[in-house]
Amino acid sequence: MDLFGFPWHYRAMRQSQLFTKTRKEAPSDEVAKNAQLLIRAGYAYKVMAGVYAYTPLGLRVLEKIKQIVREEMNTAGGQEIVMTSLQKKSTWEGTGRWDDAVVDVWFKSKLKDDTEVGLAWSHEEAILEMMQSFIKSYKDLPASVYQFQTKLRNELRAKSGIMRGREFVMKDMYSLHTTKEDMDMYYDKIIDAYKKCYERFGIGESTFVTFASGGAFTKFSHEFQTICDAGEDVLYVNEDQSVAVNEEVLDDATHELGIDKTVLKPVKSAEVGNIFKFGTEKSEKMGIYFTDSEGAQRPIYLASYGIGITRVMGVVVEKFADDKGIVWPASIAPFQVHLLGLGEDMADADRVYQDLIDAGVEVLYDDRTGVMAGEKFADADLLGMPTRIVISKRSLENGGAEVKGRTRSEGEIVPLTNLIAHVQKTH
Ligand code: ATP
Ligand code: MG
Repeated sequence: MDLFGFPWHYRAMRQSQLFTKTRKEAPSDEVAKNAQLLIRAGYAYKVMAGVYAYTPLGLRVLEKIKQIVREEMNTAGGQEIVMTSLQKKSTWEGTGRWDDAVVDVWFKSKLKDDTEVGLAWSHEEAILEMMQSFIKSYKDLPASVYQFQTKLRNELRAKSGIMRGREFVMKDMYSLHTTKEDMDMYYDKIIDAYKKCYERFGIGESTFVTFASGGAFTKFSHEFQTICDAGEDVLYVNEDQSVAVNEEVLDDATHELGIDKTVLKPVKSAEVGNIFKFGTEKSEKMGIYFTDSEGAQRPIYLASYGIGITRVMGVVVEKFADDKGIVWPASIAPFQVHLLGLGEDMADADRVYQDLIDAGVEVLYDDRTGVMAGEKFADADLLGMPTRIVISKRSLENGGAEVKGRTRSEGEIVPLTNLIAHVQKTH
């Protein structure tokens, strides 16, 4: 077990070695349920309002969300890059977005020689400027690049925990095309890829592609909105949930769709993704052209696609948590199994731990001595792994290990000889 390596180097961890501890109380200034639970369970550490650090457990959740997105973006032909946090003023001047009156979330600073620099709130212009140095002719297109990056935004309010950070992780992707048709086709492909991502996060059923404002080239952009009481947006959905419209464009969108807005009901929701078609508007502003097959210079068609990685983590906590704690969907849980050894003699639990490791099961092992059973149970509920396995004198007397799903009230006794097969069947 490599505790100090990159998280994917270990599939298992002893809780006695984990430096984070659970807490009874969240910081008193923390009002959001997602952050309260994540801090109490030791997934996140609050640095200041809207600024959170992530512990080994929290990092594993974020890495799992990212890995799902990475797989779907790679399948759609995206190539992963990483941009910089420091940006040039000139990068944003061409589109008018250096101006604080246009973009009101900028953090800005100065180099020693007084050169102004921006701290990345977005990478749209920055990535396009970089792509311009590589993409010259129609032969270089289409191209699609994406990254996972920390965005810094001086948000006015930060009361939604990790759902609205002043520092947060986003996946942003940009696609470049020679024609509108090609852009449209790719855009639809990414809509499908996004749907797969939200399904894999476990929030597919409550996430809708909505008409939203902010389209530069088309009238609307598309947002992915997840129904969630803690969300800051309002979504209008019809009964069979086949139409979903953002409040801000309700009149416009219902007019466009030819539907009566009284059939739509408001629900609270969180924006977990946003995609735009820029067409040639941005490339014309920035001077990003390609040479077509006849040798003529033409502006590149552009679209951009964002997913709020840390916001998704917050939304999942908000949606599934119960009064005992977090409930992770198996796909993004830091570990699939939380193994609890109770009592002083942990020889049997140690053996099960090793068996689970050998079988390739991701397992967090509560091997702490001197901690009461009740406290271990409470911690397991707070931490929220999908499956809890208890090895105690009593469970052994009853015939093996007690196995319980996080949302079940009763566990079942599984003989130790069947335990691995049983766990593998569940996950
Ligand atoms: P919002 O309307 O919530 O302020 P936005 O429209 O400014 O978000 P985009 O620039 O579209 O955000 O960013 C893409 C995605 O990044 C959003 O759909 C959202 O999921 C996420 N996101 C945006 N701002 C934040 C933030 N402050 N904290 C966490 N995630 C965010
Ligand atoms: Mg948006």
